[in-house]
Amino acid sequence: MLGIDDVANRIRSVGFRCLGCGACCRRVAEDSNLVLVSPAEVRKIMAATKMSWDEVAEPYPDFIESESGGQYTLAWCIRRNEDACIFLRDGRCSIYPHRPWICRTYPFMLVDDDLLVSECPGLGTPLSLHDAHVAAADLCRRQAAETAEEIGLRAAYQRAVVPPGKRAVIDSEGMKVLNG
Ligand code: SF4
Repeated sequence: MLGIDDVANRIRSVGFRCLGCGACCRRVAEDSNLVLVSPAEVRKIMAATKMSWDEVAEPYPDFIESESGGQYTLAWCIRRNEDACIFLRDGRCSIYPHRPWICRTYPFMLVDDDLLVSECPGLGTPLSLHDAHVAAADLCRRQAAETAEEIGLRAAYQRAVVPPGKRAVIDSEGMKVLNG
């Protein structure tokens, strides 16, 4: 696993500054603004906004047939309206202090020892060592959170039996059967 200094150096070699364009929050192509959120992130946003789970999050749209005759998906996403994240208001994130890891660390992602970089108009802009370290520390914390989430999800998946004819989301907290 990469250390913060290594990640910071890689970020600096790419270069990045957020231009505040909100392009990552808008739908510019099919599912381009799909923001995956862990149950802990959903609960943090619920606490900050006083919104319900279903108001904050929607199931990841690709459902899989289960052996028991139901269907399941393995993640939650921030709820979207027709063309953007529901929390994008007047071109700004209305839950900025509580935004999920994906938003906090966009356009970067760590997968094992690789730094993946998504499309973004802010790429290529030089950034200071301090800013690169802040971004790198966030990325390392995100990677740790995602690893913990994955371990919880695996355990929940092994226990889950989706009721026949029902749809459910399996996450690190267990199985949530959907209404309707
Ligand atoms: S939570 Fe905020 S930063 Fe993330 S997609 Fe929505 S508006 Fe954008």
